[in-house]
Formats: sequence, C-alpha cells, structure tokens
Amino acid sequence: MSLYVMKFGGSSVGDIERMQRVARRIVEKQDEGHQCVVVVSAMGDTTDDLIDQAMLLNPNPPAREMDMLMTTGEQISMSLLSMAIHQLGRSAVSLTGWQAGFRTEPVHGRARIMDIVPDRVNEALQQGNIVIVAGFQGMTEEGEITTLGRGGSDTTAVALAAAINADVCEIYTDVDGIYSTDPRIVKCARKLEEISYDEMLELANLGAAVLHPRAVEYAKHHQVKLVVRSSFNYNEGTVVKEETSMEQGVVVSGIAYDKNVARISILGVEDVPGVLATVFGALAGAGINVDIIVQSGVQDGKADFSFTTSLSESGQALQVIKDLRSTLPYREVTSEDNLVKVSIVGAGMISHPGVAAEMFDVISKQGVSIKMVSTSEIKTSCVIEGGNLEQVVRALHTAYNLDTDAQVFVGGPQDRR
Ligand code: ADP
Ligand code: ASP
Ligand code: MG
Repeated sequence: MSLYVMKFGGSSVGDIERMQRVARRIVEKQDEGHQCVVVVSAMGDTTDDLIDQAMLLNPNPPAREMDMLMTTGEQISMSLLSMAIHQLGRSAVSLTGWQAGFRTEPVHGRARIMDIVPDRVNEALQQGNIVIVAGFQGMTEEGEITTLGRGGSDTTAVALAAAINADVCEIYTDVDGIYSTDPRIVKCARKLEEISYDEMLELANLGAAVLHPRAVEYAKHHQVKLVVRSSFNYNEGTVVKEETSMEQGVVVSGIAYDKNVARISILGVEDVPGVLATVFGALAGAGINVDIIVQSGVQDGKADFSFTTSLSESGQALQVIKDLRSTLPYREVTSEDNLVKVSIVGAGMISHPGVAAEMFDVISKQGVSIKMVSTSEIKTSCVIEGGNLEQVVRALHTAYNLDTDAQVFVGGPQDRR
C-alpha cells in the first residue's frame, strides 16, 4: 500500500462530468490498495471569473478581501468532489487549507507556506477516508486567510506530500506531461520522460505554467517524487527528479515563454553613484519583483536604464518611479507592456559556449529584434515584441532539434478551452 497525493487542476474538474471522472479515478486508486489525499483547484475559470467580478466593483480591491473571495473557488471544488466520491459509495472528507494545517506568512495574494500541521489529514486518513484538501490557501498565525499565488494548488500538493510523507505526488492536468515547450503552441513538442528539478525550476520560473515554481522548489528541497500526467487518459506522465538519464549531448531541453512582462525605462538620469540603489531599493520596499536590468551608455553625464517586472506590478512600479522624481531627477519614464520573454533551458548549456549566440541568430533570422537579454549557466532569456511569440518559439524548437512526429494530446474530447 502506498500513500498518494493526487492534485487535479482547474480544467480537470471544470464541470460536473469531469468532476465525476476525477472521482472515479481516485476510487480506482483506492481499489488498487492505496491511500489517497487529493488536492483540488477551483473549477475551470472560476478564479478568473471571481477576479473579474471584484474588478467590476472595485478596480483596486483590498488584498485581504481578494483572498477571502478567491479561496471560495477551491472550497466549491473540494465539497463537490467529496459528494461525487460519496455517490460512488466511498467515504471522503473535504478540508480547507487551514483545516489541513497550512500556516503561511502574513502576505496576501502570494503567501509562502511557513509550516504544515497535517493532524486532521492524518486522522481522516486513518479513519479510512479519502481526504480532499482545497489547494492554494492557508492561514496566518493571526487567523487571516491567504492565497499562495496563481497556480499555487501545485504547491499545496507537493508541500502536503512532504508533510505527510507521501510516496508519490501526482499532478493531474490537461496535457500528458511536461513537454519540450508548451504543446498548445508547438504541436510537435516532445514529451519528456523525466526532467531534473533544476531544469523544471528554471522552466517554471520562466513561465511554463504546467507547474508552479514553488512546487518544484518544495519538491527538490524535500525530495518529493513528482509525476505530471493527464487526468483525461492513462498515459505515463513525466517524472521530475534529482538526476535524470536524459540523452547525452542534449544542450537545450526546453523552451518557455512569459507573457506577463512589462518594461519600464528611466531616461536621462544623473549618473552619480547610488542611483541604481535608490531606484531598486524603492521598488523592493514596495514589494515589487524586478527581473532583467539593463543600463545603457552614459552621455553628457546622463544615463538611461530599463528593467522588467510583471504586468500586474508595472502600474505600481511606474508610480514608485514617479514618486522618486523629486529626489532623483530624470528626463522621462516610459512603460511598455506588449512584450514577451522567451527562454531556452538546458543543463548542458554550461559546457557548450555559443548557445546564446545561436539563439540570437535564430531570432534575428525571424526578422525579430531582441530588446533585452539575461543569461545564467542553464538558461538564456530574450525579451521581444509580443506579436512574434509563436513564430519565435517554433523556430527555436526546430533549431534545437526538439521537434518530434508524435501527436500531442491536449485536454479531453469535450475540452472547451
Ligand atoms: P491546471 O489547471 O491543471 O493547473 P495549467 O493550465 O496550470 O493546468 O497547466 C497546464 C498547461 O501548461 C497546459 O495546458 C499547457 O498549455 C501549459 N504548458 C506550458 N508549458 C508547458 C510545458 N513545457 N509542458 C506542458 N505544458 C505546458
Ligand atoms: N485556482 C487558483 C488559480 O487559478 C489556483 C490553482 O489553480 O492552482 O490560480
Ligand atoms: Mg496550474
């Protein structure tokens, strides 16, 4: 008998029929003699719909109330799924994040898990129940409800798997596993049998939505055996683990993109020591994450520099820069939001010089100009105009010999996305 954590994402529980299919899948696992703890996301586009409703009432809603609102989505799923399992003659118990013992830091919208006290999960399991836990939510020490950031149910699942010592954490989604790139964009994407935690962490951080970055971080830290597979079929998924026996000589194993990118440029700033510290200190103080930073040449004692941040934080970042103007005079500040970041990832890049140059060459042959670049030992990222995304991802996929003839399976027969 093994202990499984099975996580089902929004598209897997998108309607009643899918919910019933998921219930059957869980019961099958129990029939094989295993114990099951299940983590669910909100149904379909529920979280987006809740956010849209909030924005209609208040374009700048209080973060606390947003968390109160968004956590309801997962609570609908968990209770409906429990009812579906009862209908199949099995006992199941649903628990909110806080009932399951998730304690988080006191931050709304993207709280980190501080610790998990899964006593109720263990008790319910011992009583022979299938335990269903609402994803993406926790509670602070002060009793405030928090969320873990968009896509955070993956993190709930992996963290819970670590806390209850599960044998495997399975992430069920609408694709067969982790591919060389998003199979919705590149139909000839290659399904990976396995991928290392480090490569997956880069891909997730660089925008590959298939796993939440913190879930991968958690899995690596606690050595959780993680499998990503489809809830629509029984194909073998992708195993995420420490070491992989990936083909020798593969330099680039995956391509990711991120549409959630804005560039802010500050032009004509006095070039005196401490300018960057002032700007980025102020941004950090406001809790804004900055990604790529580029400073261009100095002319007449004035410098220009640019940085990228997420689209959702760009308005706030712009305001921080405007507020600095009295202490830090500059000529102009501009913001662009029609950009995307495309990245190539591969552990083999460390030992292969020239990979970045090849990437620039492939992109330029598409007639696309590169606005910003950042590199590390296992990735190179380029910021480009958003309209060229699909064409560039396909060209890179072909250039790095990642194309395959296999047919990609996305979603179920009634997939409406
Ligand atoms: P869920 O609702 O199950 O959490 P998500 O939409 O968050 O599902 O993640 C699954 C989606 O991730 C897929 O439908 C696919 O479009 C996207 N995706 C992006 N990059 C990859 C990749 N490298 N491999 C597989 N899927 C990817
Ligand atoms: N429902 C949340 C979201 O849409 C969490 C998740 O699905 O993982 O982001
Ligand atoms: Mg997801």
